Amino acid sequence: MELTDKLEILADAAKYDASCASSGAPKRSSEGKDGIGATSGMGICHSYTPDGRCVSLLKILLTNVCVYDCQYCVNRRSSNVPRARFSVDDVVKLTVDFYLRNYIDGLFLSSGIIRSADYTMEQLVQVARRLREVHHFRGYIHLKTIPDADPALIAAAGRYADRLSVNIELPTQAGIDKLAPEKSLHTIKLAMGAIRQKLDEKAQEPKAPQFAPAGQSTQMIIGADASDDQTILSTAETLYHSYRLKRVYYSAFSPIPHSPASVPLAPPPLLREHRLYQADFLLRSYGFSAGELLPAQGGNLALDIDPKLAWALAHRAHFPLDLNRAEAGMIARVPGIGLRNARRLVELRRLRQIRYVDLVRLRCSMKKIAPFIVTADYSPVDGAASSERLRRALAAAPQQLQLWSELKAA
Ligand code: SF4
Repeated sequence: MELTDKLEILADAAKYDASCASSGAPKRSSEGKDGIGATSGMGICHSYTPDGRCVSLLKILLTNVCVYDCQYCVNRRSSNVPRARFSVDDVVKLTVDFYLRNYIDGLFLSSGIIRSADYTMEQLVQVARRLREVHHFRGYIHLKTIPDADPALIAAAGRYADRLSVNIELPTQAGIDKLAPEKSLHTIKLAMGAIRQKLDEKAQEPKAPQFAPAGQSTQMIIGADASDDQTILSTAETLYHSYRLKRVYYSAFSPIPHSPASVPLAPPPLLREHRLYQADFLLRSYGFSAGELLPAQGGNLALDIDPKLAWALAHRAHFPLDLNRAEAGMIARVPGIGLRNARRLVELRRLRQIRYVDLVRLRCSMKKIAPFIVTADYSPVDGAASSERLRRALAAAPQQLQLWSELKAA
Protein backbone atom coordinates (compact mmCIF):
# COMPACT_ATOMS: atom_id res chain seq x y z
CA MET A 1 0.00 0.00 0.00
CA GLU A 2 1.30 3.47 -0.90
CA LEU A 3 2.20 5.84 1.90
CA THR A 4 -0.48 8.32 0.77
CA ASP A 5 -3.14 5.57 0.87
CA LYS A 6 -2.08 4.69 4.41
CA LEU A 7 -2.15 8.37 5.30
CA GLU A 8 -5.68 8.71 4.00
CA ILE A 9 -6.92 5.80 6.13
CA LEU A 10 -4.95 6.55 9.28
CA ALA A 11 -5.54 10.30 9.32
CA ASP A 12 -9.27 9.70 8.85
CA ALA A 13 -9.24 7.11 11.66
CA ALA A 14 -7.59 9.62 14.01
CA LYS A 15 -10.26 12.29 13.56
CA TYR A 16 -12.46 10.88 16.33
CA ASP A 17 -9.87 11.76 18.96
CA ALA A 18 -10.58 15.27 20.23
CA SER A 19 -7.87 15.38 22.84
CA CYS A 20 -5.49 17.37 20.67
CA ALA A 21 -8.19 19.79 19.62
CA SER A 22 -8.36 23.51 20.18
CA SER A 23 -12.03 23.59 21.15
CA GLY A 24 -13.93 26.68 20.10
CA ALA A 25 -11.36 27.77 17.53
CA PRO A 26 -12.72 28.46 14.06
CA LYS A 27 -11.98 25.82 11.47
CA ARG A 28 -9.13 26.63 9.13
CA SER A 29 -8.61 24.14 6.35
CA SER A 30 -6.74 24.44 3.11
CA GLU A 31 -8.12 21.20 1.75
CA GLY A 32 -8.62 21.43 -1.99
CA LYS A 33 -6.98 24.84 -2.21
CA ASP A 34 -3.61 26.07 -3.42
CA GLY A 35 -1.50 28.90 -2.14
CA ILE A 36 0.59 29.86 0.83
CA GLY A 37 -0.08 27.64 3.82
CA ALA A 38 -1.93 25.07 1.74
CA THR A 39 -1.44 21.54 2.96
CA SER A 40 -2.33 18.16 1.64
CA GLY A 41 -5.46 18.40 3.79
CA MET A 42 -4.88 14.92 5.19
CA GLY A 43 -4.38 14.53 8.90
CA ILE A 44 -3.50 18.10 9.75
CA CYS A 45 -5.27 19.67 12.70
CA HIS A 46 -4.71 22.79 14.74
CA SER A 47 -3.99 22.88 18.42
CA TYR A 48 -2.69 25.27 21.09
CA THR A 49 0.59 24.84 22.92
CA PRO A 50 0.82 25.76 26.63
CA ASP A 51 2.31 29.16 25.72
CA GLY A 52 -0.75 29.96 23.60
CA ARG A 53 0.66 29.42 20.09
CA CYS A 54 -1.67 27.85 17.56
CA VAL A 55 0.20 25.01 15.89
CA SER A 56 -0.57 22.61 13.07
CA LEU A 57 -0.18 18.97 13.95
CA LEU A 58 0.06 15.87 11.83
CA LYS A 59 -2.69 13.85 13.53
CA ILE A 60 -2.54 10.18 12.67
CA LEU A 61 -2.79 6.66 14.02
CA LEU A 62 0.17 4.33 13.78
CA THR A 63 -2.44 1.73 12.84
CA ASN A 64 -6.21 1.35 12.94
CA VAL A 65 -5.84 -2.39 13.48
CA CYS A 66 -6.91 -3.15 17.03
CA VAL A 67 -7.25 -6.31 19.08
CA TYR A 68 -9.84 -4.62 21.35
CA ASP A 69 -13.51 -4.32 20.53
CA CYS A 70 -14.69 -1.06 22.14
CA GLN A 71 -18.25 -0.68 20.91
CA TYR A 72 -18.09 3.09 20.35
CA CYS A 73 -14.93 2.94 18.22
CA VAL A 74 -14.74 2.79 14.45
CA ASN A 75 -11.44 0.92 14.70
CA ARG A 76 -12.73 -1.86 16.96
CA ARG A 77 -11.78 -5.44 16.06
CA SER A 78 -15.23 -6.23 14.66
CA SER A 79 -15.51 -3.07 12.54
CA ASN A 80 -15.59 -3.54 8.81
CA VAL A 81 -13.28 -0.68 7.80
CA PRO A 82 -10.20 -0.69 5.56
CA ARG A 83 -7.11 -1.26 7.70
CA ALA A 84 -3.62 0.12 7.36
CA ARG A 85 -0.46 0.29 9.37
CA PHE A 86 2.47 2.66 9.29
CA SER A 87 5.92 1.48 10.17
CA VAL A 88 7.96 3.54 12.60
CA ASP A 89 10.03 4.69 9.61
CA ASP A 90 6.87 5.80 7.75
CA VAL A 91 5.73 8.07 10.59
CA VAL A 92 9.20 9.50 11.12
CA LYS A 93 9.58 10.21 7.40
CA LEU A 94 6.12 11.80 7.08
CA THR A 95 6.68 13.99 10.13
CA VAL A 96 10.10 15.18 9.03
CA ASP A 97 8.96 15.77 5.42
CA PHE A 98 5.85 17.69 6.46
CA TYR A 99 7.82 19.67 9.01
CA LEU A 100 10.51 20.64 6.51
CA ARG A 101 7.79 21.78 4.09
CA ASN A 102 6.28 23.90 6.86
CA TYR A 103 3.02 21.97 6.75
CA ILE A 104 3.14 21.13 10.44
CA ASP A 105 4.68 22.20 13.74
CA GLY A 106 4.29 18.84 15.39
CA LEU A 107 2.87 15.35 15.62
CA PHE A 108 -0.15 13.88 17.40
CA LEU A 109 0.27 10.10 17.35
CA SER A 110 -2.19 7.53 18.59
CA SER A 111 -2.74 3.88 17.73
CA GLY A 112 -4.99 0.89 17.86
CA ILE A 113 -3.55 -1.90 19.96
CA ILE A 114 -1.50 -4.37 17.97
CA ARG A 115 -0.32 -7.60 19.57
CA SER A 116 -0.11 -6.10 23.07
CA ALA A 117 -0.14 -2.82 24.95
CA ASP A 118 3.63 -2.99 25.46
CA TYR A 119 4.40 -3.76 21.82
CA THR A 120 2.21 -0.84 20.66
CA MET A 121 3.64 1.57 23.20
CA GLU A 122 7.17 0.56 22.23
CA GLN A 123 6.40 1.49 18.63
CA LEU A 124 5.01 4.89 19.64
CA VAL A 125 8.05 5.57 21.80
CA GLN A 126 10.37 4.55 18.99
CA VAL A 127 8.80 7.12 16.68
CA ALA A 128 9.27 9.90 19.24
CA ARG A 129 12.78 8.75 20.17
CA ARG A 130 13.91 8.61 16.58
CA LEU A 131 12.45 12.02 15.82
CA ARG A 132 14.22 13.58 18.79
CA GLU A 133 17.52 11.71 18.80
CA VAL A 134 18.17 10.92 15.15
CA HIS A 135 16.47 13.87 13.41
CA HIS A 136 16.82 16.37 16.27
CA PHE A 137 13.17 17.24 15.77
CA ARG A 138 12.27 20.22 17.98
CA GLY A 139 8.57 20.33 17.09
CA TYR A 140 5.67 19.48 19.38
CA ILE A 141 4.91 15.78 20.02
CA HIS A 142 1.73 14.51 21.65
CA LEU A 143 1.70 10.74 22.24
CA LYS A 144 -1.37 8.77 23.17
CA THR A 145 -0.49 6.42 26.00
CA ILE A 146 -1.71 2.83 26.13
CA PRO A 147 -3.00 2.36 29.70
CA ASP A 148 -1.83 -1.25 30.18
CA ALA A 149 1.68 -0.52 28.97
CA ASP A 150 4.68 -1.02 31.24
CA PRO A 151 5.29 2.13 33.35
CA ALA A 152 8.89 2.12 32.07
CA LEU A 153 7.54 2.64 28.54
CA ILE A 154 5.29 5.46 29.74
CA ALA A 155 8.32 7.04 31.41
CA ALA A 156 10.26 6.73 28.14
CA ALA A 157 7.36 8.32 26.22
CA GLY A 158 7.44 11.31 28.58
CA ARG A 159 11.13 11.85 27.90
CA TYR A 160 10.45 12.55 24.23
CA ALA A 161 6.86 13.84 24.11
CA ASP A 162 5.62 17.31 25.07
CA ARG A 163 2.25 15.95 26.09
CA LEU A 164 0.93 12.50 27.00
CA SER A 165 -2.70 11.52 27.14
CA VAL A 166 -4.58 8.50 28.37
CA ASN A 167 -8.15 8.44 27.11
CA ILE A 168 -10.65 7.48 29.78
CA GLU A 169 -13.45 7.53 27.14
CA LEU A 170 -16.28 6.69 29.59
CA PRO A 171 -16.65 8.13 33.09
CA THR A 172 -17.76 5.01 34.98
CA GLN A 173 -16.61 1.42 35.33
CA ALA A 174 -20.19 0.34 34.56
CA GLY A 175 -20.02 2.12 31.19
CA ILE A 176 -16.60 0.63 30.46
CA ASP A 177 -17.81 -2.87 31.42
CA LYS A 178 -20.68 -2.51 29.00
CA LEU A 179 -18.95 -0.91 26.02
CA ALA A 180 -15.23 -1.61 26.40
CA PRO A 181 -14.98 -4.75 28.57
CA GLU A 182 -11.30 -5.29 27.73
CA LYS A 183 -10.48 -2.00 29.47
CA SER A 184 -10.56 -1.07 33.13
CA LEU A 185 -10.99 2.28 34.83
CA HIS A 186 -8.50 1.14 37.45
CA THR A 187 -5.77 0.53 34.85
CA ILE A 188 -6.49 3.85 33.13
CA LYS A 189 -6.17 5.67 36.44
CA LEU A 190 -2.96 3.78 37.26
CA ALA A 191 -1.47 5.05 33.99
CA MET A 192 -2.59 8.61 34.78
CA GLY A 193 -1.12 8.21 38.27
CA ALA A 194 2.21 7.02 36.84
CA ILE A 195 2.35 10.11 34.60
CA ARG A 196 1.44 12.40 37.49
CA GLN A 197 4.17 10.87 39.63
CA LYS A 198 6.76 11.54 36.94
CA LEU A 199 5.48 15.11 36.50
CA ASP A 200 5.73 15.67 40.26
CA GLU A 201 9.27 14.25 40.36
CA LYS A 202 10.30 16.60 37.60
CA ALA A 203 8.66 19.58 39.35
CA GLN A 204 10.54 18.77 42.56
CA GLU A 205 13.84 18.03 40.85
CA PRO A 206 14.40 20.46 37.96
CA LYS A 207 17.61 18.67 36.97
CA ALA A 208 15.72 15.40 36.41
CA PRO A 209 15.34 14.39 32.73
CA GLN A 210 12.55 16.20 30.86
CA PHE A 211 9.10 14.69 31.26
CA ALA A 212 6.07 15.76 29.20
CA PRO A 213 6.41 19.52 29.81
CA ALA A 214 2.90 20.14 28.45
CA GLY A 215 1.45 17.68 30.99
CA GLN A 216 -1.27 15.12 30.42
CA SER A 217 -4.83 15.23 29.08
CA THR A 218 -7.71 12.85 28.45
CA GLN A 219 -10.91 12.54 26.46
CA MET A 220 -14.46 11.50 27.40
CA ILE A 221 -17.03 10.44 24.84
CA ILE A 222 -20.42 12.05 25.39
CA GLY A 223 -23.60 10.17 24.67
CA ALA A 224 -22.20 6.69 23.91
CA ASP A 225 -23.50 5.44 27.26
CA ALA A 226 -26.16 6.69 29.65
CA SER A 227 -23.81 8.79 31.82
CA ASP A 228 -25.30 12.18 32.57
CA ASP A 229 -23.43 15.49 32.70
CA GLN A 230 -23.23 15.38 36.49
CA THR A 231 -21.32 12.07 36.32
CA ILE A 232 -19.11 13.38 33.51
CA LEU A 233 -18.27 16.66 35.26
CA SER A 234 -17.66 15.00 38.63
CA THR A 235 -15.30 12.55 36.95
CA ALA A 236 -13.51 15.43 35.20
CA GLU A 237 -13.19 17.26 38.53
CA THR A 238 -11.68 14.18 40.18
CA LEU A 239 -9.25 13.72 37.30
CA TYR A 240 -8.12 17.35 37.49
CA HIS A 241 -7.53 17.10 41.23
CA SER A 242 -6.08 13.60 41.42
CA TYR A 243 -3.88 13.52 38.33
CA ARG A 244 -3.25 17.20 37.63
CA LEU A 245 -4.61 16.90 34.08
CA LYS A 246 -4.15 19.95 31.89
CA ARG A 247 -7.37 19.32 29.99
CA VAL A 248 -10.29 16.97 29.76
CA TYR A 249 -11.70 16.97 26.22
CA TYR A 250 -15.31 16.06 25.48
CA SER A 251 -16.21 14.40 22.22
CA ALA A 252 -19.85 13.93 21.21
CA PHE A 253 -20.35 10.32 20.16
CA SER A 254 -20.68 9.97 16.39
CA PRO A 255 -22.58 6.90 15.27
CA ILE A 256 -20.45 4.92 12.89
CA PRO A 257 -21.51 2.73 9.99
CA HIS A 258 -22.63 -0.74 11.14
CA SER A 259 -22.63 0.32 14.80
CA PRO A 260 -23.41 -2.45 17.27
CA ALA A 261 -26.81 -2.30 18.99
CA SER A 262 -25.12 -1.44 22.30
CA VAL A 263 -24.47 2.18 21.25
CA PRO A 264 -27.06 4.80 20.27
CA LEU A 265 -28.10 5.23 16.66
CA ALA A 266 -28.19 9.03 16.95
CA PRO A 267 -25.54 11.41 18.24
CA PRO A 268 -26.23 13.57 21.31
CA PRO A 269 -26.94 17.28 20.65
CA LEU A 270 -23.64 18.98 19.83
CA LEU A 271 -24.75 21.74 22.15
CA ARG A 272 -24.35 19.28 25.02
CA GLU A 273 -20.65 18.94 24.23
CA HIS A 274 -20.38 22.74 24.07
CA ARG A 275 -22.08 23.17 27.47
CA LEU A 276 -19.68 20.63 28.98
CA TYR A 277 -16.71 22.62 27.66
CA GLN A 278 -18.19 25.76 29.22
CA ALA A 279 -18.75 23.99 32.54
CA ASP A 280 -15.24 22.52 32.40
CA PHE A 281 -13.84 26.03 31.97
CA LEU A 282 -15.78 27.11 35.07
CA LEU A 283 -14.20 24.22 37.01
CA ARG A 284 -10.67 24.98 35.86
CA SER A 285 -10.62 28.76 35.91
CA TYR A 286 -13.48 30.18 37.98
CA GLY A 287 -13.30 27.99 41.06
CA PHE A 288 -16.70 26.38 40.57
CA SER A 289 -17.15 22.81 41.76
CA ALA A 290 -19.09 20.19 39.83
CA GLY A 291 -21.57 20.08 42.73
CA GLU A 292 -22.36 23.78 42.28
CA LEU A 293 -23.11 23.36 38.59
CA LEU A 294 -25.23 20.23 38.86
CA PRO A 295 -26.95 18.63 41.85
CA ALA A 296 -25.42 15.46 43.28
CA GLN A 297 -28.57 13.52 42.41
CA GLY A 298 -27.64 13.88 38.74
CA GLY A 299 -28.86 15.52 35.58
CA ASN A 300 -27.64 17.33 32.49
CA LEU A 301 -26.61 20.93 31.95
CA ALA A 302 -29.29 23.19 30.50
CA LEU A 303 -29.02 23.58 26.75
CA ASP A 304 -30.85 26.90 26.44
CA ILE A 305 -28.55 28.89 28.76
CA ASP A 306 -24.87 28.64 29.64
CA PRO A 307 -23.82 27.01 32.95
CA LYS A 308 -22.73 30.27 34.62
CA LEU A 309 -26.07 31.91 33.91
CA ALA A 310 -27.86 28.76 35.10
CA TRP A 311 -25.89 28.90 38.36
CA ALA A 312 -26.66 32.61 38.86
CA LEU A 313 -30.38 32.07 38.24
CA ALA A 314 -30.37 29.25 40.78
CA HIS A 315 -28.54 31.44 43.35
CA ARG A 316 -30.41 34.72 43.21
CA ALA A 317 -29.65 35.42 46.87
CA HIS A 318 -26.08 36.41 45.80
CA PHE A 319 -27.43 39.04 43.37
CA PRO A 320 -27.61 41.86 42.50
CA LEU A 321 -23.93 42.08 43.40
CA ASP A 322 -22.41 45.42 44.37
CA LEU A 323 -19.35 45.63 42.10
CA ASN A 324 -17.78 48.26 44.34
CA ARG A 325 -17.72 45.93 47.36
CA ALA A 326 -17.77 42.32 46.16
CA GLU A 327 -14.79 39.97 46.17
CA ALA A 328 -13.06 39.49 42.81
CA GLY A 329 -14.04 35.82 42.75
CA MET A 330 -17.73 36.70 43.06
CA ILE A 331 -17.49 39.41 40.38
CA ALA A 332 -16.18 36.77 37.97
CA ARG A 333 -19.28 34.70 38.74
CA VAL A 334 -21.61 37.39 37.38
CA PRO A 335 -23.03 36.19 34.03
CA GLY A 336 -21.39 38.20 31.26
CA ILE A 337 -18.28 39.21 33.24
CA GLY A 338 -15.22 37.15 32.42
CA LEU A 339 -12.02 36.72 34.41
CA ARG A 340 -10.20 39.51 32.60
CA ASN A 341 -12.95 42.05 33.11
CA ALA A 342 -13.32 41.02 36.76
CA ARG A 343 -9.62 41.83 37.23
CA ARG A 344 -10.00 45.14 35.40
CA LEU A 345 -12.96 46.13 37.58
CA VAL A 346 -11.03 45.37 40.77
CA GLU A 347 -8.12 47.50 39.52
CA LEU A 348 -10.48 50.31 38.53
CA ARG A 349 -12.25 50.47 41.86
CA ARG A 350 -8.92 51.08 43.62
CA LEU A 351 -8.97 54.43 41.81
CA ARG A 352 -12.67 55.31 41.89
CA GLN A 353 -16.21 53.98 42.13
CA ILE A 354 -17.34 51.69 39.32
CA ARG A 355 -20.17 53.18 37.25
CA TYR A 356 -22.47 51.60 34.68
CA VAL A 357 -20.60 53.19 31.78
CA ASP A 358 -17.39 51.43 32.87
CA LEU A 359 -19.02 48.10 32.04
CA VAL A 360 -20.16 49.41 28.69
CA ARG A 361 -16.58 50.52 27.99
CA LEU A 362 -15.34 47.05 28.88
CA ARG A 363 -17.77 45.75 26.25
CA CYS A 364 -19.60 43.54 28.70
CA SER A 365 -22.89 42.10 27.52
CA MET A 366 -25.14 44.63 29.30
CA LYS A 367 -28.34 42.74 28.65
CA LYS A 368 -26.90 39.75 30.47
CA ILE A 369 -25.16 41.62 33.27
CA ALA A 370 -27.79 44.25 34.12
CA PRO A 371 -30.10 42.09 36.28
CA PHE A 372 -27.18 40.86 38.39
CA ILE A 373 -25.21 43.99 39.35
CA VAL A 374 -25.24 47.19 41.35
CA THR A 375 -22.85 50.06 40.53
CA ALA A 376 -22.43 53.56 42.00
CA ASP A 377 -25.15 54.89 39.68
CA TYR A 378 -27.21 51.79 38.83
CA SER A 379 -29.30 49.12 40.41
CA PRO A 380 -31.61 46.85 38.41
CA VAL A 381 -35.26 47.83 38.27
CA ASP A 382 -36.15 44.22 37.63
CA GLY A 383 -33.89 42.97 40.43
CA ALA A 384 -36.85 41.06 41.79
CA ALA A 385 -37.84 39.53 38.44
CA SER A 386 -38.39 35.82 38.73
CA SER A 387 -35.57 33.56 37.61
CA GLU A 388 -37.94 31.99 35.10
CA ARG A 389 -38.70 35.39 33.54
CA LEU A 390 -35.00 36.27 33.42
CA ARG A 391 -34.21 32.91 31.90
CA ARG A 392 -36.72 33.45 29.11
CA ALA A 393 -35.34 36.94 28.48
CA LEU A 394 -31.69 35.86 28.47
CA ALA A 395 -31.84 32.48 26.77
CA ALA A 396 -30.37 32.57 23.29
CA ALA A 397 -32.64 31.28 20.55
CA PRO A 398 -32.01 27.51 20.60
CA GLN A 399 -31.78 27.34 16.81
CA GLN A 400 -29.01 29.94 16.84
CA LEU A 401 -27.08 28.03 19.46
CA GLN A 402 -27.52 24.78 17.61
CA LEU A 403 -26.31 26.43 14.42
CA TRP A 404 -23.31 27.88 16.23
CA SER A 405 -22.52 24.50 17.68
CA GLU A 406 -22.79 22.83 14.30
CA LEU A 407 -20.50 25.42 12.74
CA LYS A 408 -17.97 24.88 15.51
CA ALA A 409 -18.00 21.14 15.02
CA ALA A 410 -17.86 21.30 11.23
S1 SF4 B 1 -8.52 0.25 22.19
FE1 SF4 B 1 -8.71 2.25 21.21
S2 SF4 B 1 -8.51 1.85 19.02
FE2 SF4 B 1 -8.92 -0.11 20.00
S3 SF4 B 1 -11.13 -0.38 19.85
FE3 SF4 B 1 -10.72 0.56 21.85
S4 SF4 B 1 -10.88 2.77 21.50
FE4 SF4 B 1 -10.69 1.79 19.48
